[in-house]
Amino acid sequence: MLSFSHEVQSLAQAQPEEDLRRFKFKWTLPRLIVQLVCLLAVNALALTLIFPSLKFKPIPLGLPILASVNSPFSAVYSSFDLMQVELAQPEFPWIVLGTVFLIGAVVGRAFCGWVCPVGFIQDIITNLKGRLDFVSPRTHSSAKKLKYLLFFGTLLISGTLGLALYLGVGNDYKTALGVLASGPFIAISPDGTLFGVVPTLIGLARDNFASLLTKPPTIQQVWVYLTQVPPLLALRILILVGFFGAAWKVPRFFCRYACPTGAMMAIFQKYSLAGIKRDPVKCTKCPHCEVKCPMQINILDLPWEKFNDPECIMCMECIDACPHGSLSPKFP
Ligand code: SF4
Ligand code: SF4
Repeated sequence: MLSFSHEVQSLAQAQPEEDLRRFKFKWTLPRLIVQLVCLLAVNALALTLIFPSLKFKPIPLGLPILASVNSPFSAVYSSFDLMQVELAQPEFPWIVLGTVFLIGAVVGRAFCGWVCPVGFIQDIITNLKGRLDFVSPRTHSSAKKLKYLLFFGTLLISGTLGLALYLGVGNDYKTALGVLASGPFIAISPDGTLFGVVPTLIGLARDNFASLLTKPPTIQQVWVYLTQVPPLLALRILILVGFFGAAWKVPRFFCRYACPTGAMMAIFQKYSLAGIKRDPVKCTKCPHCEVKCPMQINILDLPWEKFNDPECIMCMECIDACPHGSLSPKFP
């Protein structure tokens, strides 16, 4: 699946030839700080694990990020999760849609680059690896469509269920959907597993740690326990393992190819007020910016006046990477 362009790889290693002594504002550190703060803020209810006397309640606010409604630690929720829940009630998600519309129109997909904890985790993995690998353009271009399929497929299930319930004929449909009824993506999303299920499992293991040490289970007991793991939980763990493996292979794999929230915001990104411009006089088409783009965007093929590629998460990595200072944010 991966193909390495030798030209691009060698350019990645080449030193920028421009004058490096000139001060240039870098976005990397501010973004890292914002992402870290947002990771803690979005999962702020985890503090109750350390301070049980704290009485926190989630804010009923939907943001275009991944923050599972099923996680006991989410302080805010994913807009897409709320949409699924409300459609299945059935209610039309006016407020959630309004918030998404407003955020999307102003900053496009920037919440993916700056706020979403799942995006941040993938950035950490890529930084640990220390290298951005490229996917062949053909595979990349086809795989990008998968997230739209997941987005519209999920909305179709939740929307038809909501409509059927509204018309008073949806009970059998709801029963047939089982755990998917309250949100098909919620039931399997890696954020709910990572920030909800895994800490809960760790908490259970910690509570039973002493008894496990004094009386360790036999291999047969472990096997019996494993065979009793609910299939949905096993599937969620498998998806989470796949998520980590894919993020190691390809920067922001989940954001590029699988995230329905990313798909939803990509639609807005194209028309958002925020974008990036490229000064064609300073630009030498070197192309250090493209090499550093975690979303593999062909920046040099986009209009220089302002570009709003649907895949752009406004991470500003390209701006930092440009040795000639030819890229900068543009608003509006
Ligand atoms: S694409 Fe999805 S997972 Fe990635 S940053 Fe955006 S909301 Fe988060
Ligand atoms: S084009 Fe620039 S800002 Fe957009 S995703 Fe790529 S590196 Fe980030």
